[in-house]
Amino acid sequence: MMRALLLTDDLRLELGERARPTVKSPHDVLVKIHQTGVCGTDRSVLVGKFSAEPGVVMGHEAVGEVVEIGPEVTALTPGDRVIVNPTLYCGRCDMCLRGQTNFCHDKTGNEIGIDRDGSFADYMVLEDRFLHLIPADVSYDRAVLTEPLACALNNLDAAQIPSAEPVVVIGAGPIGLVCAVAARHLGSAVTLIERDSFRRDHAHKLIDGFFTSGVDVVGAGSDDRPDRAPTVIDTVGNQLGLAIDLVEDAGSVVVMGYDSRAEATVRPLQILQRGLRVTGAGDYRGPHFPRAVELAARLPLERLISHRFTLEEHEDAFAVLAAAPETGYSALKVVIQSAGATE
Ligand SMILES: [Zn+2]
Ligand SMILES: [Zn+2]
Repeated sequence: MMRALLLTDDLRLELGERARPTVKSPHDVLVKIHQTGVCGTDRSVLVGKFSAEPGVVMGHEAVGEVVEIGPEVTALTPGDRVIVNPTLYCGRCDMCLRGQTNFCHDKTGNEIGIDRDGSFADYMVLEDRFLHLIPADVSYDRAVLTEPLACALNNLDAAQIPSAEPVVVIGAGPIGLVCAVAARHLGSAVTLIERDSFRRDHAHKLIDGFFTSGVDVVGAGSDDRPDRAPTVIDTVGNQLGLAIDLVEDAGSVVVMGYDSRAEATVRPLQILQRGLRVTGAGDYRGPHFPRAVELAARLPLERLISHRFTLEEHEDAFAVLAAAPETGYSALKVVIQSAGATE
């Protein structure tokens, strides 16, 4: 048996026991989970904003160690440190054949931590094609931010940023910060807009001493408004109006934050007359993941981690994330450690 955090019917997490999964298919790999990042989606499930299957083991942003491999696994061996690519896809449907693997038609039953058992547990089994080797000089703490980085790369691609032109990122939560450092690394000057002072301070902890210039962190007041930029990314998900105000004519707005309750009023004429492009890209596609693994090696992403807890301490883990935007945040990236880290 192993420990696992299970979703209850009334949307709580409960520490329970599950049979330890086993290698069944030739391409299966058994991974001993080291740690899993808590994602905004996990919180959304627990507050009823995103639906998941009761009884499922939640968690998807995972890293761990290979314990056992199926007979046809050639690229991995026991002892290897790996990152889980949790956006599974079939590779055969229309969407996959078009390269839009994040919109695979075969999602039902294959969304890790949502309707298929995830990584808030001690072990997990996955096909080898969804596991990536962690480069030798990359820590588990850095590697655990690879999945959010893959999301950032997909959304930066969707933005079609004119070469090294400035980018405004709205929101300095984990996704906003990952987006900002990725855009800066790719050559753009970045302005991060965040109204919460804890998050602004943490943004400085991430950036200072790494980038010597080209990243500004500003509040959300009207005095703080940056110049219009050709690209604006809303990582909050309910800031479309502000994003349209801040984008230059002929520029692009990318909606990236998940907020199932947000609504916005846009004036279509403004989109037309100002030549704006408003777009979304979802999480990430297959090829973004290996790119993110490579890029993570060059970014100090571990600085985003503000808290770590064990599986037993799951209530505390979600409690530090519970603050409403009105009362202020006290956490950034929270990780939950499993057997690989605690045994
Ligand atoms: Zn996630
Ligand atoms: Zn597919």
